[in-house]
Amino acid sequence: MNWFSQNAEQVLQELNVDPKQGLSDAEIQSRLEKYGENKLKGKKKKSLAALFFAQLKDMLIYVLLGAAVITLLIGEYADAIIILLVVLLNAVIGVFQEFKAEKAIEALQKMTTPRALVRRGGDVVEIDSKNIVPGDIVVLDAGRYIPADLRLTESANLQIEESALTGESVPSEKNAARLFEDPKTPLGDLANMAFMSTLVTYGRAEGVVVGTGMNTEIGKIAKGLDETQTDLTPLQKRLAGLGKTLGYLAIGICVLIFIIALIQRRDLFEMFLTAISLAVAAIPEGLPAIVAIVLALGVTRMSKINAIVKRLPAVETLGSVNIICSDKTGTLTQNKMTVLHLYTHRKFLDVPSEGTATAAESTQKKLIQTMVLCNDATLDDGEGTGDPTEIALVVLGNKYHFPKRELEAAHERVAERPFDSDRKLMSTVNKEGDHYRVHTKGAFDSILKIATHALVNGEKVPLTDDLKADFLRAAEEMSDQALRVLGAAYKDSDEVVEPDQMENDLTILGLVGMIDPPRLEVKDAIRQAKEAGITPVMITGDHQHTAAAIAMQLGMAESLDQSISGSQLDAMSDDELKQKINHYRVFSRVSPEHKVKIVNAFRSHGNIVSMTGDGVNDAPSLKNADIGVAMGITGTDVSKGASDMILTDDNFTTIVAAIREGRNIYNNIKKSVVFLLSCNLGEIVAILASVLFFWPMPLLPTQILWINLITDTFPAIALGVDPGDKDVMKKKPRDAKESFFAGGAAFRAIIGGLLIGILTLVAFYFGLSEHGYQLWSGSIPEDVLTYAETMAFVVLAVSQLFYSLSMRSATHSILHVGLFSNKYLIGAIILGIVLQFAVISIPILAGAFHVQMLTLRDWIIVIAFALVPLVINELIKRFTRSANN
Ligand code: ATP
Repeated sequence: MNWFSQNAEQVLQELNVDPKQGLSDAEIQSRLEKYGENKLKGKKKKSLAALFFAQLKDMLIYVLLGAAVITLLIGEYADAIIILLVVLLNAVIGVFQEFKAEKAIEALQKMTTPRALVRRGGDVVEIDSKNIVPGDIVVLDAGRYIPADLRLTESANLQIEESALTGESVPSEKNAARLFEDPKTPLGDLANMAFMSTLVTYGRAEGVVVGTGMNTEIGKIAKGLDETQTDLTPLQKRLAGLGKTLGYLAIGICVLIFIIALIQRRDLFEMFLTAISLAVAAIPEGLPAIVAIVLALGVTRMSKINAIVKRLPAVETLGSVNIICSDKTGTLTQNKMTVLHLYTHRKFLDVPSEGTATAAESTQKKLIQTMVLCNDATLDDGEGTGDPTEIALVVLGNKYHFPKRELEAAHERVAERPFDSDRKLMSTVNKEGDHYRVHTKGAFDSILKIATHALVNGEKVPLTDDLKADFLRAAEEMSDQALRVLGAAYKDSDEVVEPDQMENDLTILGLVGMIDPPRLEVKDAIRQAKEAGITPVMITGDHQHTAAAIAMQLGMAESLDQSISGSQLDAMSDDELKQKINHYRVFSRVSPEHKVKIVNAFRSHGNIVSMTGDGVNDAPSLKNADIGVAMGITGTDVSKGASDMILTDDNFTTIVAAIREGRNIYNNIKKSVVFLLSCNLGEIVAILASVLFFWPMPLLPTQILWINLITDTFPAIALGVDPGDKDVMKKKPRDAKESFFAGGAAFRAIIGGLLIGILTLVAFYFGLSEHGYQLWSGSIPEDVLTYAETMAFVVLAVSQLFYSLSMRSATHSILHVGLFSNKYLIGAIILGIVLQFAVISIPILAGAFHVQMLTLRDWIIVIAFALVPLVINELIKRFTRSANN
C-alpha cells in the first residue's frame, strides 16, 4: 500500500480513524492483538548454554582441563573430579553473574525506551512506544523520535532528521499536504511520511500510524538489530590488561618452579600440579566478572535514586567529575512558573495570586492576548500540559478573563514559527477580524532586536533609545528579583505572513515577570558538591540578572561579576575564554553552541565536566562533556539518546547523589580488586617460599583451586556492594588519570599477600612441629603432612575471609566503619567458614581434598592464626593514621 500517493483523508478512512478522536480502547486492544507490539525484534539473546560455554573459553580453564586429563591418565581420579567440579562451579557462578549483570542493564534500557504522544479517545496521552498500533494518531514536536511509520496528516514547519534510515544527516523538510504518484519515489523524498526511529528536529505535526514493529521501513532493514552495547569500561580494560600481565608472570613462575624442581629432583608430577596451582593462584580470573557485577549492581542502585546510567563507563567517570554544568530551569528551579507582574510602558501591574482581575488598559489586554495566543500549552480543570512558561501565561489569561480556548476560537491560528533556544522567540499568525496579526513572544533582548515600534498609552510610536531604556530598566528590575522576563510584540498584516517574515518590524507591547522558585533541596546539594571539591556552574538561556540572582540565592555564585552572557562569550576568542573560564559560575543567555564552547574550555584545563541538557540542540554539548546528563521528564528523546545518564526527576540534587554513588562504586571495586590480589599473592608467597626453601608443599593444588574459585568469590562481591564511606563527599574528586593502585592500594595488596602467605606457612609449620617435625625434616609421615596441610588450608581460607573486613576502609579501623555494617560481607564470611568446615569434616570431601577433621582445639588455634593478618593490618592503619595527623 503506497500511503504517500493517497491524500490524508483517504488514509484516515482506510485506517478507520477520526483524527480528532483517535482510536477507542476496544479498537486499540483488537489491533494490538492483530499486529503485535510495536517493537523491532532484536538479536536473539544468548542461551544459557551458550553463556555457559563462553565461560569455558579462558586460558585458565584450558590449563585446568589439561590438568584434569593428566590426573585422569595417572589415575588420580579424586583430583580429576575436583578440578572438573571447580571448573563447572566456576562456570556456573560466571553464568549467574553475567546473567544478573545483563538483567540489570536490560531493566535500565527498559526505563529509557522512548515514549510517544498519541490521541486516543479524544485526549492526547503519552504512552510507551511499544503499545502503538496502526491507526493511532501521533502528535510530533521537536526533539521526539518517530515511534512508528506515519502518514502525516497535518504539519507546521516540520523537519525530520532521517539519518537512521537514509544516512543523510541534513534534516528533510516535511509537508503533510504533498502527494507522490510515483510508487518508486525514494524514501528520502517522501515529504508526507515520517519513519520510525528518525527524529523531529523542528516544528510540529500530526500523523496516522501506517506501520508498526517489523512492518516499518526501519524494521525491513533492521533484521537482527543488536541494541545492547557491551563496551568495557576503562577500568575493566585496565584490569583486563593487569590480568594478562599477571597471567604471563604466572607462566614465568611456573616454568621457574619446574626448573627448580628438576634441579631439586622433586616428584615431577607433584610439581606439575603445583605449577598449575600456582598459575591458578596468580591469574586473577575472577576480576572481570566481579567488576562487571559490581558495576551492574551499582547502576541498579543508582536507578533507584533517579539516575539512570546508560553506559557503564559513566559510573567510573562520575567519580572524577569536578565541574557540574547545570541548566537552571527545572533542574535548579522547580519549573513551576507564576506570572507576578505585567509591564506596559511605565506601568507595572501586579497580578493577583488567586482569583480574577481586570486589566484596565487596552495595551495590557493586548499584551495578555498575545501571551495566550502565541502559546502551545493547554489548561483543563487546572491541569496544564506543555511548557511551564507557557502554562503560566495561560493561567494569566484565565485570571484576566481571556481563556485560551475562547480566544483561539475567535482568533484562529493560521501560521506559526515555533520556539527554539537559539532565537529565543516564538511567533504565531492569528486571524484578527478581516486581517491577520503576528503575535511574538520571547526573551526581551531578542524582541528588542526585531522591534521598530512600541505601544505607549495605546498608541504606536517609533522605538527611540529612551523608550528602549524604559523597557530595559523595567526588565532589569524584574530580573534582579530573580524573575524570568518575557517580552511580547505584534504586527498587523492583510495577508498570512510567511515564517521568515514574521519576526521583523514588530511593535512592543510590554513584559511579564514570572517567578520560578528554586528547588529547596538544591542549596544543600550545592554545599555538598562544593565540600566534595566539585564546582557547580549554571548554564541557562535565561537573562543574566535573573540567572545571577538565582545562583546567588543558591550559593553557586557570590556576585554578578561571576556571570557572563552569551554575547560576551561571542566577543571572546577561544583562547581568552579558556584563560578566564574558571572565574565564571553563571553563563546566561547562552545558546546550545555556546554550551559546547563552555564544555571544551573547562575540559582544556583537565577538568572532568558533566553537562545537563534537554533540547534537540543540546546533543553536541552532551556528547562533548565527560558525562552528558539528560532530563527524564522535560528532556527530548534526542538529548536522552546523546546522554550518558538520565535524571528521572530532572533534579540537580540527583546529579550530586549520582556522583556520590559513582565515587562509592569505584572505591568498592578497588576494595574487591585489592582483596582478590592480596589473596592470590598470599597463595603465591606460601608456595613459592616452600619451593625455594626445599620445604614440603603446604597446600595441594586442588585446595588452592577451591579457595581461589569458591571461598574468595563471595567476600569479593560483598565488598563490591559495601555501603560506602560516609566521608566520601568530603574528599576531592579522584584524578581521572590516577592509577588504579594509587593511594597505597598496591602497598595494601602486597602487605595483605605477605601476611596471608606467611601465616599459612606458620600454620603449616605449627602442624608439623605439633608432631615433632620441622619444615626441613627429611621424610615426614603422610598423616602428619595431611594434618599440617589441613591447618595451612584452613588458615589460608579463613585468614582471607577475615582479611576482607579490613579492606572496607583504607584508613579507618573496622570498628570505626562498623564491624557489622556490611551484612553481605558478614554473610559471605560465615558462608566461607561453613564451607571450609564442610570440606574438612565431611569424610568424602575430606578424602578428596586430602585433609582431615580438626579438633576444637585445632580450630581455636587456626582461627587465632587467621586473625593475625586482619589485626596487623588494622595496626598498620592505626599507625599511619597517627603518623598523618
Ligand atoms: P535553562 O537553559 O536553564 O533551562 P531556559 O529555560 O530559560 O533556561 P531556554 O528554554 O533556552 O532556557 O529559554 C531561553 C529564553 O527564551 C528564556 O529566558 C525566555 O526568555 C525565552 N523563552 C522560553 N520559553 C519560551 C517560549 N515558550 N516562548 C517564547 N520564549 C520563550
